[in-house]
Amino acid sequence: MFGEIEGTGFDILDDRFSECLTGHGRVERLWTGARWTEGPVWFPAGRYLLFSDIPNNRLLRWDETSGNVSEFRNPSQYTNGNTSDNDGRLVSCEHLTRRVTRTEHNGDITVIANSHNDKKLNSPNDVVVKSDGSVWFTDPPYGILSDYEGKKSVLEQNGCYVYRVDPVSGEINAIATDFVKPNGLAFNCTQNILYVSDSGASHEKDGPKHIRRLVLDEAGKKVVKSTIFAESPVGLFDGLRVDCEDRLWTSAGDGVYCYSPDGYLIGRIRIPEVVSNLCFGGPNLNRLFITGTTSLYSTFLAINGQ
Ligand code: MG
Repeated sequence: MFGEIEGTGFDILDDRFSECLTGHGRVERLWTGARWTEGPVWFPAGRYLLFSDIPNNRLLRWDETSGNVSEFRNPSQYTNGNTSDNDGRLVSCEHLTRRVTRTEHNGDITVIANSHNDKKLNSPNDVVVKSDGSVWFTDPPYGILSDYEGKKSVLEQNGCYVYRVDPVSGEINAIATDFVKPNGLAFNCTQNILYVSDSGASHEKDGPKHIRRLVLDEAGKKVVKSTIFAESPVGLFDGLRVDCEDRLWTSAGDGVYCYSPDGYLIGRIRIPEVVSNLCFGGPNLNRLFITGTTSLYSTFLAINGQ
């Protein structure tokens, strides 16, 4: 379990990446046995990580105290991305039921979003909760293209949007409608910038495979500027996170890529499987958890997540 995993390693492409590394840290494979892992989310009070195994229609739980992995929810409605809200509750994107839900402290499930303009959502993919309680999620069609990660169904929306759910009214607004397949998303530290990956190249040869940087207005409800932050060198960008010094860590075809706040690729963590997503965890948020196709990986870093 703690041996050197073949195909892993750290590539320092810029000196600024050196300060992120512990020196002798390694990549560990914590568990394997899934078809397509996704949606890692850390729960500090319980010292566990939840993550999705989408094609197997289940949510799994890795326990920091024992290292064991067990099924947390089966069926999971083909849940993809997960996050926790400001009260520590699980928020999930369900492909099969085409909705975003919150799991209450008593285990009840509350629907946060399941339609827009009186039509079903496509298949919510990834989600983040802002400090004001608003819920932001992406809605590409991956869960309705076939029965593999959900159920083959008709697309009812006119496109694939990025949505914001108001914390007071519950109103669902499309805040970006010009993505092909919006996917992972994360805020910067001051939460005036939202990073969103577009994995449109998954089904279109010349489709996008980049991360966009969306600058929000003062109220934090509208996009005032949208630019391309980074193009994926290998495979597609999917899930991403921002650390407490605004570096952006993203999944890619052959590992995890780390970008400086000004958009330079400063380093890479090689993983021997396609990486779908990642999150910071552990008591100090200095441990990076990585979902890579069949497996859950982690590595300790010298920096902290947020
Ligand atoms: Mg995703």
